[in-house]
Amino acid sequence: MTGAVVTALRSALGARVDTTTSALQAARADKSGHASAGMPLAVVRAASIPDVQAVMRIATDTRTPVVVQGALTGLAGGANAGPGEIALSLRDIDRLLEVRPDDLIAVVEPGILNGDLNAALAGHGLWWAPDPASRAISTVGGNIATGAGGLLCAKYGVVRDAVLGLDVVLADGRLLHLGHRSVKGVTGLDLTSLFIGSEGTLGVVVGATLRLRRLVPGEVRTLTASFPAVRAAAVASAAVTAAGIQPAIMELMDAASLAAVHALLALPAPAPGSAQLTIQTDGPAADLEAAAIAGVLRDAGGTVVVSHDAADGEHLLAVRRSMHPAMESLGTTLIEDVSVPRSALPAMFDEIARIEREHDVVIPTVVHAGDGNLHPNFVFDGPDVPDHIWAAADDLFRAALRLGGTLTGEHGIGVLKSRWLADELGDDQWQLQRQIKGVFDPLGILNPGKVFAP
Ligand SMILES: Cc1cc2nc3c(=O)[nH]c(=O)nc-3n(C[C@H](O)[C@H](O)[C@H](O)COP(=O)(O)OP(=O)(O)OC[C@H]3O[C@@H](n4cnc5c(N)ncnc54)[C@H](O)[C@@H]3O)c2cc1C
Repeated sequence: MTGAVVTALRSALGARVDTTTSALQAARADKSGHASAGMPLAVVRAASIPDVQAVMRIATDTRTPVVVQGALTGLAGGANAGPGEIALSLRDIDRLLEVRPDDLIAVVEPGILNGDLNAALAGHGLWWAPDPASRAISTVGGNIATGAGGLLCAKYGVVRDAVLGLDVVLADGRLLHLGHRSVKGVTGLDLTSLFIGSEGTLGVVVGATLRLRRLVPGEVRTLTASFPAVRAAAVASAAVTAAGIQPAIMELMDAASLAAVHALLALPAPAPGSAQLTIQTDGPAADLEAAAIAGVLRDAGGTVVVSHDAADGEHLLAVRRSMHPAMESLGTTLIEDVSVPRSALPAMFDEIARIEREHDVVIPTVVHAGDGNLHPNFVFDGPDVPDHIWAAADDLFRAALRLGGTLTGEHGIGVLKSRWLADELGDDQWQLQRQIKGVFDPLGILNPGKVFAP
């Protein structure tokens, strides 16, 4: 059967079907540090929507599972393709089809990189706001399928706020156009939103109509504030939110992450135990907001430095953006992604300190403090997550849920968190969500074993 599937793919798609060992190995793993159990049966690099439809028709006829792949930068194992599966790459369908500065929309193909899209939009005085730290290397299709966020999302919104419509190919090969080009639109159920964050389990995103913003030239102000301990930094960030001031970026780094990044970048070591907030304001009120935030941070016990120089600001943010390579330099990393209400950040850091003590682990943590999204990192040796790390992660997930939070703010459930999904959703909603997947994918061939795994 496997041979027959590859033969059918080759006769429909020719050289776009790759069965070389290097291609099959590469398709097994995203950047989560987790790989599938073995090699998929083929990698198909689709070049057009009809290519995608042909793959899905063959998959339906032969009951063959399909794993959709963008740039494989995901951190939940959602794009990992394994034995008996077709890895369907959208990376080569990557054109910017239309830009409408008057309507503030762009129509794109899914394989375009977020960074390339924004470089092209800048020429029109426009930008697409979702800014994952992986923006230079991740696709817009992948951003949509994971519901990605980023540093600027506290002020400018996440993917869900920036997509008006989607073109999707269903499991049986039908092409659907969801959503609209107008700003408003409430016709029928909101299937566009349903596909955002669906992680390749409902259909293949083959096009998107994006909601854009105008680039507003102007100054940015960047502040850093040091605190003697991470709890104080968390209290200060919650105080900024409670004061009703809206920074564009508000990032928190705990002592372990700050020390790791300083070591990687060969910067002077930070004071032991100290944590840091890095905050940026922008727009016409940048100065006033920076001054107000500085006041809140000083009142909260922070040592504050304000930079008026944009290049200096970028340099300060580069420290935060170096977190991922800093963790990679220490060992294999499980990057977690829990989110809590912003007022609960201090309590969440109390929980992290407890988990570190009780499980005898260090959990370097960075936070998109502007929206309460924490990235606690577990670092270990070897390719597989050891049991004691999963036990600590399990404790972390349950702590976030107790505080009114969620398992994942932006990376998705993928393969790594599916066993906790029902804990957050409850049995009734979990069953309902599985039934909804069944409507779109009755044969269960789209990304089986991910998200809704039993
Ligand atoms: C250094 C680094 C920094 C990161 N920073 C952030 C961050 O700040 N914010 C954030 O949100 N994420 C971040 N990520 C995670 C990752 O980059 C995002 O999840 C990104 O959106 C994945 O895009 P991708 O093209 O690599 O998708 P992939 O990894 O290839 O796929 C991700 C999921 O989407 C599905 N999928 C992909 N394309 C399609 C499609 N066209 N149709 C249907 N399903 C599809 C896949 O099946 C899979 O389930 C980071 C990753 C790295 C390595």
